[in-house]
Formats: sequence, structure tokens, C-alpha cells
Amino acid sequence: MRSMKEIMKIRLGVASSFLIEGEKGYILVDAGLKKKEKKLLRFLKKNRINPMEIKLIVITHVHGDHVGSLKSIQEITHAKVLVHQEEKEFLIKGKSHPAKPISKFYEKISSFMPEKSHRYDAVEPDIVVEDNYSLQDFGIKAKIIHTPGHTKGSISLIDEQGNAFIGDIAMGFPMNFKAGLPIIAENLDEVKKSWKRILEEGAKTLHLSHGGIVSSKVLKKLLEKKEKK
Ligand SMILES: [Zn+2]
Repeated sequence: MRSMKEIMKIRLGVASSFLIEGEKGYILVDAGLKKKEKKLLRFLKKNRINPMEIKLIVITHVHGDHVGSLKSIQEITHAKVLVHQEEKEFLIKGKSHPAKPISKFYEKISSFMPEKSHRYDAVEPDIVVEDNYSLQDFGIKAKIIHTPGHTKGSISLIDEQGNAFIGDIAMGFPMNFKAGLPIIAENLDEVKKSWKRILEEGAKTLHLSHGGIVSSKVLKKLLEKKEKK
């Protein structure tokens, strides 16, 4: 079994989703803002992918810009939905996880942001995970790990080659001017612990939901800086 054949990035609103090709179909990471399902469908058509080939939707965390179109995408694809135990209730209620900006400055900015108070169509998850969940059954050599901090039940997907899909546990431009801390975090200490864990799990390339693709060295350097202080 190969790790991953291809990774495609699709912007579904302010956050990006990722489509990962495995041996048994595709895994979609996150489901964008509301009403973005048509954009996804156009993308799939252009790339000659049948929507039914998407077998799993991994929700990194339950904020409106990551689950807005989940219900419709679930209906179109019939994919299973995977979420962490701590986020499950929010998904079932169709409510966003409460967002806590890390400073006054970001509080002002975030009042304009869709993360804040979005409601979306409720979804009943199929797979509820805690930590170390293998995706082997879905045809990729990758696992889900629990990386709290941005929200309690934030998760990351890391494959054997070190591709890491880490949701909002780190953010890049334009949310954060340099790739680094998320501008919203329930617990900043947990964020840093999660960064450590992500590095320990062998992440090399970080695929940010907000921002581009960055080397995991960015997190390493930031952690070293913090320890010196
Ligand atoms: Zn978020």
C-alpha cells in the first residue's frame, strides 16, 4: 500500500479543504463554509473524480468555516464523517465550537470572521475518534492524532511521508501574518503541546487550512524561541 498518491487543495471559502487520494478512493479533509458544495463538485468534475469516490470526510474541528457544507457534501458523496469525541456534540447540534481570540486585536478582527457564530446543517458523525486512529482501512498509510488547543477536539491527519493536515492548530497568512499561532485558541499551552506532538509524529510538510504549505521546521523554531524566553 502506498501512502498517498496525490494531494489536492480546494479553497471552500476562507478555509481550504484537502482531497487525498488513497488506494480505495479519496479522503476529504474539512468541508468549507456554507454553500460551497457546488464549488467542490466543479472541482471534482474538472479532475474527473466521481463524488462517490470520496469515502471519508475528516473534520479537523467544528468551526463554521470547516463544516459549513458538510451536510450537503455528505449527501452527495455518501462518505463517512469522522470527528473527535470532544467536537461531536457541536456537529450533532449544527453549532460552531465557541471561538476564543488570542488577543484584543484579534477579537476585533474575528468579529468579522465566519468562525465566530456560524450555524450550519447538523450532521450525525459515523466515526468518533479519540487518538491514534489508523486510516489503513481507507487505503492510506496515515493516522489521526488528537491535537487540542485551537479547540478541545481538534485533530490532525499525518501520513507516513510526513504530510500533515493540521486544521487551525497553526495558521498562516492572511489569518496570521507569519505562519504560527492560530488567532483563535481555547488553550495556548495545549496548542504548543500539540505542535510538539505533531513534530514527534514525524510531520515534515504542514498543509494549513488558513495559509499555504509550510515546513514543520517553522513550528520547531517557534517552540525553541518560546523555550528560551
Ligand atoms: Zn477554526
